[in-house]
Formats: sequence, C-alpha cells, structure tokens
Amino acid sequence: MMRAPRLEIDLRKIHHNTGILVERLARHGISVSGITKATLGSPDIARVLLNAGVKTLGDSRIENIETMRKAGVSTPIWLIRSPMISQVDPVVTHADISFNTELDVIKALSAAAQKAGRTHGIVLMVELGDLREGIMPEDVESIVRATLDLPNVDFKGIGANLACRSGVSPDAKNMGELSALANSLDATFNFEMDIVSGGNSANLEWVFSGADTGRINNLRLGESILLGLNPLNREPIDGLHIDAFKLVAEVIESKLKPSQPRGEIKQAAFGTPPPITNQGNISQVLLAVGEQDTDSDGLIPPLGFEILGASSDHLILNAGDNRLSAGDEIAFQLNYSALLRAMTSPFVAKIYSIQ
Ligand SMILES: *Cc1c(COP(=O)(O)O)cnc(C)c1O
Repeated sequence: MMRAPRLEIDLRKIHHNTGILVERLARHGISVSGITKATLGSPDIARVLLNAGVKTLGDSRIENIETMRKAGVSTPIWLIRSPMISQVDPVVTHADISFNTELDVIKALSAAAQKAGRTHGIVLMVELGDLREGIMPEDVESIVRATLDLPNVDFKGIGANLACRSGVSPDAKNMGELSALANSLDATFNFEMDIVSGGNSANLEWVFSGADTGRINNLRLGESILLGLNPLNREPIDGLHIDAFKLVAEVIESKLKPSQPRGEIKQAAFGTPPPITNQGNISQVLLAVGEQDTDSDGLIPPLGFEILGASSDHLILNAGDNRLSAGDEIAFQLNYSALLRAMTSPFVAKIYSIQ
C-alpha cells in the first residue's frame, strides 16, 4: 500500500510549464528566476526548473536554500525575502544575492560577508503600491549610494513585488516607474545595473499583453510554473498543465449520516461553522487529512464530491452517489495555499514521478 496522505508530483508537467514560460519570456528579453518556496526548497523540483532553462533560483527562506545547497544545487540562488539580521551568516554563505529594503540589514550582510571572505549581491526592492516590502521610490537613490560605500556587498539592481498583499496588478504605470528608476539610477551612478526584476507570476499577463517591458529583464515565477495559473484571476495560462500536483488522502470512515448536526451549536475547532441546509441523510466520508496537512479551502475534490468541513486531522466530504469504504483513496487538486501547506507538512509524503 502507498503512504497517505501523499502529494503526487509530476515532474514532467513542471518541466513543461517551466520551459514554456522561459521561452515566452525570453522573447521579451526577460529571464526567469524559479521560485522554490512553495516546495520547501525541493532539490528534485529545483533540478527540473534548471533542466528546463531557468538560470537562477529564488526562495524566501534561507533554510530551503541550505537544503538545495546540501543536495548539490550550485546555481545562483536568490533570497527573495529580506534577510533577518539574525541570519546574515547563513545568508552570505548560501545565497548569492538577497533582496533588501533596510540599510541596517545591508550593513549586517556587509559585515558577515567580510568575515566570511565573500561578496554578497544586493537587490533593492522598491515599493510600487502593493504595500508589502519595498523602499519608497524617493529613498532608493540614497540607499544605493550607501550600499556602494560598503565593503563585500555588490549592488546588483532593483526589483518590485506586486499583487501579494493588496492585489495591486502590474501595469504600464507601475512597471514604467520601475524602468524609469533603473534609468535614473544608472545615469546618476554611471553604471548599468544587472537586474531589474519586475515581479512574480502576476506580471505575466502584463508581459504577454504586448506591453513595452522597458528595463524589466527578470521575473520570479513560482505559482505559474507549479500550478499553471495566472494568480490575478486563477485562470489557467495557455498551454500549461494545472495538475502537476495531486493530494491523495485515505478514507477512514464512510457512513450514511444526517446532513444536519444535532444539539445546541457553539464554536467548532476552527471557529463558527457556516449554517447547513438540510438534505436528509447523506453519504459522509472522513479522510485522514486535515488543516495540519493542507488548507482545506484550497482543495478541489473530484466531480461528485463536496467538501463539508475540516478540522486539524479530518476532512469531511459528502460523497454523493459514490460508495466508498475505509482504505479507499481520493485525489484532490490544490491551490497555492493548499500546495504550500502540503509541501511543508511532515505528515504528507512526497512522491515524485520520474522525469
Ligand atoms: C513568492 C514570491 C515570488 C513568486 O511568486 P509567484 O506568484 O508564486 O510567482 C516572487 N517574488 C517574491 C518576492 C515572492 O515573495
């Protein structure tokens, strides 16, 4: 018997998605950094991204970057979340470049790099309206100047991240602002910066619309590669697989039960449950998977099944006309949030198809 719950990961589909995005963006002079954070820094997936044409990898966690380094991945890897000052030593050891917004952090990186006898690359993130990370545009020049004065750190370029906190979408205006800033910094400091990293999978629609991409020469892609989706509307991207990942869970109970609870209703494990319409008796199935393993709101059940609820360790389904018994398995598609939790849960086995 195979382990359950398990994530079945089709590396061929991930390879296909990566190759298509790398090629389509190359036509616009844009390189792809493959973002591994939703995979817990999986070296198997990292290798697939690299085989499919990605030249750099990125992750938000230094621990994931260390995992890939220990597995022998030697490609440039970018830490795409601002380093913690408490982690600058591993950051300069394992990441080639980090994304930064605080001069205090860059100073700590400089000191750590000096101590380690290394040079660490710095990309400065610019705030363009989504209000997550980023230096206010008018303050970038002074931080570039200060970075250039520090030993053992190398200013590599600028970047931005949209559509993560507030859903602000990339467009001619905000991307034009990033390009203009790159031009003005190049002129001010008399260099030509290497990297102008325009954003994440949410930028694809803007690029493929035929917009003038200006100075943008890199995107950092996670969700579009792994799930084949445009994160702005969660619609499939043309020609990409949306089912590279499947979460398989095992039935531990299957019974005809009333659709409505019996007794006085207060709070449940995860807050107040929504009201239930009475459908009489239903075929209720319990699966041995829960919020500890995935995000139940992000699971898509097979046709004919409906998710009724979840707690830490149980997922409850209306099986409709399906007759299931303990030991049977059900496979779900996952959204980004469900995938992230399943990849990071030690209770979920990861089964890779051979490439
Ligand atoms: C997660 C992340 C990405 C990748 O985003 P996707 O939408 O998965 O492509 C890119 N850049 C930063 C800074 C991120 O945090």
